[in-house]
Amino acid sequence: MPLHDRLKRISLSCFLCAFSATAAAVQSTHYAVKLTPDFEHQLLNGEETIEFKADAGVIEWKKQSGLRIVSANITNGTAIVDEQKVRVRLDSGGNHTAQFKFTAAAGRGIKWFVDNAGFVTAFYCEAWMVCDNSPGQRATFKLEIVVPPGQQPQRAKEFRAVGPGSRGKEWRDSDGDHFVSEQSDPVQTYLFSFAVARVAVGVKDNFSIYAQKMDANKVAFSKTEDAYAFLRTVASIDPMNSHYTQAFLPGPSMGQEAAGMALMSQDDLVSLVDKDDVQLMAHEMAHQWWGVTIGIRSWSDFWLNEGFAEFMSDAYIEKHQGRAAYDKQIAELQVRMDKLREAGKDRPLHWEKWKDAHEALGQIPYVKGALFLARLRTKLGDETFWRGIAVYTSANARRLVDSRDFQQAMEKSSHRNLQSLFDEAVYH
Ligand SMILES: [Zn+2]
Repeated sequence: MPLHDRLKRISLSCFLCAFSATAAAVQSTHYAVKLTPDFEHQLLNGEETIEFKADAGVIEWKKQSGLRIVSANITNGTAIVDEQKVRVRLDSGGNHTAQFKFTAAAGRGIKWFVDNAGFVTAFYCEAWMVCDNSPGQRATFKLEIVVPPGQQPQRAKEFRAVGPGSRGKEWRDSDGDHFVSEQSDPVQTYLFSFAVARVAVGVKDNFSIYAQKMDANKVAFSKTEDAYAFLRTVASIDPMNSHYTQAFLPGPSMGQEAAGMALMSQDDLVSLVDKDDVQLMAHEMAHQWWGVTIGIRSWSDFWLNEGFAEFMSDAYIEKHQGRAAYDKQIAELQVRMDKLREAGKDRPLHWEKWKDAHEALGQIPYVKGALFLARLRTKLGDETFWRGIAVYTSANARRLVDSRDFQQAMEKSSHRNLQSLFDEAVYH
């Protein structure tokens, strides 16, 4: 681990000091989760193993109240299960294993589709597993989904699971149909989302598409390849995951990035193919660099994920449909920003006054963040701006960042002091 990351871990352990004088710093966490959906009761039956390294002391994981723990076992320690957290006291330092059995009900983070069409999870890992959801704590992940027998209809399309990272083994036995996915490079736990639905899967080179109807997959793959080539060029590096999966699910339009994957809806696929609406596809894909490969250190800089993804989707629209289309996008963002300002919702992009991740979200990181990048582009000129984006992205791959890292990269590549520009939008 480079020094840069070590320092950040130390500051995270001090965040935990608020809870206990003996808070233990946690390193190198691996989550292995096996989930068996109960379609009739809309529950997930879960078994989880957390392997981690920590000093003696107290650590704390999150869980939602709808996640009911049936059993908990900690090596060299004891667990106290509260409504929304699990506190673990470790008697000694070193490598530890925690094992949980639980059921997870629908709630924030788990949405069951109507007509027994499956379910999707998004962002809030604490809904379907015990986890540390703070952005500073990246972890590896292995997910196994088991669709029990009797759920698979004889003739209709069968349920499939799609998860983050790389697609692993899939097999059928007396327990049902098993689907394994694995993220072997550490990422933030909000990137652990997955889905189960009656979808077909198509694979072309480094891309996979899961969809209810695959008739238009040729068009979807070629649009995917084009957007990917653009983003790869401006990022100047490959993303962390070499394979990229897009899952188009039942239900209304949605967009959720995960490691090596994006979850969207069948309606979004129709918009992409029939209306050439590339925005959501490009936004979610952009997160593979700005969100997955480069991680934010805390929710205070959520705009480095969302402002970037939004701006990059507009930049791709310019490449795809011309400058006028980009100008229109930016003008629309400006209208949205004016409305937010009128409603008293403006705030600095780097914003520390949130209490939980949910509060740090909202529209400002997207709208104001994208507008700030558009403004930097105008101020610096295309050549300098895009060189700065490439420097920022390549220098911070697989690291945790905040707004200062971005400012430093842009100043280094432009040889300009950008403090007043950053003060105006980012810090004040
Ligand atoms: Zn996004």
